[in-house]
Amino acid sequence: MTTHKARRLPVHRGPAAWSAILPGQDAPEPLTESVTADFAVVGGGFAGLSAARRLMELHPGSGIVVLEAGLLAEGAAGRNSGFMIDLPHDLSSDDYAGQGADSDREMIALNRKAIAFAREAVADYEIDPAYFDPCGKVNGAASDAGHAHNESYAAHLTRLGETNETLDGQAMHELTGSRHYMSGLYTPGTVMLQPAGYIRALGRGLKRDGIRICENSPVSEIAGSGTDWVLTTRQGRVTAGKVILANNGHLESFGFAKRRLMHIFLYASMTVDLDAGALKKLGGAPRWGITPSDPMGTTMRRIGTAQGGNRIITRTCATFLPGMEPSDAMLDRAARVHRQKFADRFPALAGVRMEYSWAGHLCLSRNGVSVMRELESGLYAACCQNGLGTARGTLTGIGAAELASGVSSAITAHFTREAEPTKLPPKPFAEIGANAYLRWKEWRAGKE
Ligand SMILES: Cc1cc2nc3c(=O)[nH]c(=O)nc-3n(C[C@H](O)[C@H](O)[C@H](O)COP(=O)(O)OP(=O)(O)OC[C@H]3O[C@@H](n4cnc5c(N)ncnc54)[C@H](O)[C@@H]3O)c2cc1C
Repeated sequence: MTTHKARRLPVHRGPAAWSAILPGQDAPEPLTESVTADFAVVGGGFAGLSAARRLMELHPGSGIVVLEAGLLAEGAAGRNSGFMIDLPHDLSSDDYAGQGADSDREMIALNRKAIAFAREAVADYEIDPAYFDPCGKVNGAASDAGHAHNESYAAHLTRLGETNETLDGQAMHELTGSRHYMSGLYTPGTVMLQPAGYIRALGRGLKRDGIRICENSPVSEIAGSGTDWVLTTRQGRVTAGKVILANNGHLESFGFAKRRLMHIFLYASMTVDLDAGALKKLGGAPRWGITPSDPMGTTMRRIGTAQGGNRIITRTCATFLPGMEPSDAMLDRAARVHRQKFADRFPALAGVRMEYSWAGHLCLSRNGVSVMRELESGLYAACCQNGLGTARGTLTGIGAAELASGVSSAITAHFTREAEPTKLPPKPFAEIGANAYLRWKEWRAGKE
């Protein structure tokens, strides 16, 4: 057993808007003393809280401590677009289709296990149903190329036996109020989350059940001590027999999977709460979620009062940042692009102000694998969600908890079978090359 020091802690650019629009966040309770526990979890996002819940199911009454660097839902959990997707959604492909029919069927079954796990937590903790809306999503197409992507994705889904429905331009207008889309592909299995609402309420439920959640408690060191691990935070210390690292890309900050993880930042903006006049001009359905037919295009989402206001969220632009820190200039550029993409879709609302713009960190591997395994004796990882962390983070969290408990399941079998993330090209080529590639893919996505 060795010592692992955190070389970096999360740095956020812009607010976690999904959390900012919800009232009543509980006051944080940082760790201020030395405690012992059976299990410690580092990170309080989808993976960390799912791991904690699964540990509690497997070991009722055991001591479980979650250490979160910031506040719950202040990281990527409060910065994503909230699509908890059941279907293959390979962001590196042209049309989301995955690696082949068998592996896609397996991934669909696993994603649906993640959704079922979250649904049970929603029922158990009486989480507001508006934060977990099983309404499906639409892949919008704004060009012939986009429409062709949707057609090939639809054919792939039909071959897999998955329900899908093609919407024409008129149906897209009736849904979104926008004339931008020429067609769309509706699939019913996605759950639309208010991601911060879900995560904060999940944390509250876990606390109710006796799990200690310490916010504002970044772990700076993990050191082996006999058969235990000692985790050091700013003001306290946890000694635990087993530890799960659920800190996504910051796994590398502790020295694991070095030069194998791609740290990508995505950017989004959210409008002000739309007034009656704007809503009248907008028309369309009160809530919807549109992913782009080209994975590098623009995601749009409309939410309602129960999710934090009548607002539209625009998500596009990506940068590869091995240093894990986006600059103000990067966020400013993305915010300008967001305003343009929003105006293209809703010209009648072009004057509407964006209340929030932000960046968020996600972690990909070149070969699309996660890191869910025992790293050293008693130290486990539930990381690298490949941009699909609402479902895959839930899965790797469940899986790491099971692995730490000696329990085998379809989830542990899937992730322990995966290869290691492949190595990245040497610096600085990786950064220059990847950012040029991302800009090219953004440009190629065009109107999408
Ligand atoms: C703009 C944007 C849009 C996205 N849209 C979607 C979407 O629609 N659907 C989807 O599935 N995914 C989406 N994602 C990706 C998704 O947000 C992530 O994959 C997901 O949050 C990963 O979950 P996680 O629990 O593994 O990691 P995180 O949510 O990043 O949680 C890890 C936690 O670890 C904490 N941490 C890090 N280091 C330490 C430390 N040393 N000590 C203590 N705590 C630490 C962090 O503070 C963080 O809270 C999007 C991401 C972004 C940025």
